[in-house]
Amino acid sequence: MRVYISADIEGITGTTVWSETELNTSDYAQFQQQMTKEVLAAIEGATAGGATEILLKDAHDSGRNILIENLPENVKIIRGWTQEPMCMVAGLDESFDRAIFIGYHSEGGSEKNPLAHTLSLLADVKINGEYASEFLINTYAAALHGVPVAFVSGDKALTEHIARYNDEIVTFATKEGIGHATISVSPQTTLKETKRLIEVAMKIERSKLQIELPQQFNVEIIYKDHIKAYRNSFYPGAKFKAHNTVQFETTDYFEVLRLLQFLT
Ligand SMILES: [Zn+2]
Repeated sequence: MRVYISADIEGITGTTVWSETELNTSDYAQFQQQMTKEVLAAIEGATAGGATEILLKDAHDSGRNILIENLPENVKIIRGWTQEPMCMVAGLDESFDRAIFIGYHSEGGSEKNPLAHTLSLLADVKINGEYASEFLINTYAAALHGVPVAFVSGDKALTEHIARYNDEIVTFATKEGIGHATISVSPQTTLKETKRLIEVAMKIERSKLQIELPQQFNVEIIYKDHIKAYRNSFYPGAKFKAHNTVQFETTDYFEVLRLLQFLT
């Protein structure tokens, strides 16, 4: 059984300020190690739950965060960026039984994680009128290939956001954001619960975990810089919406991913 894991850092236990997420800063090492440990716990849980092969995407910033020396033999890792529209879930296709997201975070526009954003720090994204998280964008991307998401770890508001879409998806809250602060559980608790809950999530019927793709997508990219919005509104099929938004409508979710790849 093949399992896909996508890992980010802004929902990893303890991460609170940007320097803790940035390669080559002195704040980063501790959280690089914690991200690696949370990913290893996820791999253990998935393997205990029946995964025989795992494809792991390092999906934060440079795509070169996870320390690879202790990855088990049943794991392959994608480092760096393929530059395809599948982006944070590159390589995910019909051959996978289920997907797992580790260290995910609240959407841009949320005040519930000091590191909240969606894809870039330059813009927030709405899909069908709601602020969209990377969880939602990547869960829809997985659904394009018929693959459900079984488990997600990240901030508390993200776990509540996920429950609104499908409360069968197993989640674990690593921390809660308040203003520019976070309240985190013990890193030990995250490791223990990640492993345990993923083993549980591996046994849930795939059909219960599915999130259905909408028939129609109305995408708005709300830029912090209105000049960027004006420029990007010349993307084929897109429209400028005053004063800082690019709007795009489609029935094909791959076109949403293509848009996000080029405009965020
Ligand atoms: Zn990230």
